[in-house]
Amino acid sequence: LNKLRQGLDKTRRGLVNQLRSIVGQGPLNDEAVMEIESLLLQADVGVAATDYIIESLQTQLRQETLPPEQAIQYLKSLLRDMLDAPLQGEHNLTFTPQKDTLSIWLMTGVNGAGKTTTIGKIAHIAKKSGFSCLIAAADTFRAAAVEQVKVWGQRSDVEVIANPGKNTDPAAVVFDAISAARSRQTELLLIDTAGRLQNKKNLMDELSKVRRIIDKKAPDADVQSLLVLDATLGQNGLRQAQVFSEAAQLSGVVLTKLDGTARGGVALAVVQQLGLPIRFIGAGEGIEDLRPFSSYEFVEALLS
Ligand code: GDP
Repeated sequence: LNKLRQGLDKTRRGLVNQLRSIVGQGPLNDEAVMEIESLLLQADVGVAATDYIIESLQTQLRQETLPPEQAIQYLKSLLRDMLDAPLQGEHNLTFTPQKDTLSIWLMTGVNGAGKTTTIGKIAHIAKKSGFSCLIAAADTFRAAAVEQVKVWGQRSDVEVIANPGKNTDPAAVVFDAISAARSRQTELLLIDTAGRLQNKKNLMDELSKVRRIIDKKAPDADVQSLLVLDATLGQNGLRQAQVFSEAAQLSGVVLTKLDGTARGGVALAVVQQLGLPIRFIGAGEGIEDLRPFSSYEFVEALLS
């Protein structure tokens, strides 16, 4: 959590103090609203989410002047609600695999986003929490990717299913991995997929092929398709996300590198624009540097 706090330092220093002084000045006038708007945009909150926040703030603060502390509390609860909106009242907010049944998490994302690292970290968490876990190295295009996944497999003590042949078909690896998961009664199968964005059609074809294999061979599994997104890319990351959401029936996002130069506001943009929940956040390169996402923790780190 501290790492997250430190990571969001940049966002925070800019946001909170300035917000406090603006919000604390009394009824919001147009000038104050413009200042807040530019603060939010600088923090990578994005246009749509910023508009939404501004409108809500205006509605609330036009009616009554809240003392700064209360205004900040109002803002916090607004941001939490935005981040939780895609969950639509889901009861169990903790995102985990289930005991004694197969969950398949298809990990997508552009190369360099932190997909492999995230897979290793999730495997580690799953293992520690007592789930049996397997990794499928289905990014067969890059030989280095398979090797890297294997390294993370060793680190997290989770077996990696890979196919050493040249020009291996990712779908074939996934097929083998599901067979292995079945015979070992695996509870969580993590699938690493290719992240080449240059050719959108290839990406889509490959991901849908993998998806078809999963639906056919494991129709009863709980399948989640998670997009790994580099938070330091800000709005550019969102454009990538759009491509993936067209290619991969996404169900959630992992936001990485929030420890870096990240402008943490991008989390709000992601949720608002993609309508997807954030499931994990990465805040470092080490195996322990991944946390299940909590809107409460996140907003506290952002605005305290
Ligand atoms: P992939 O190509 O998407 O599989 O990306 P990798 O997992 O290989 O990660 C790319 C680089 O980002 C590596 O140097 C990782 O150590 C680094 N990385 C991944 N996640 C994080 C994170 O949360 N914080 C930081 N600072 N670096 C990260």
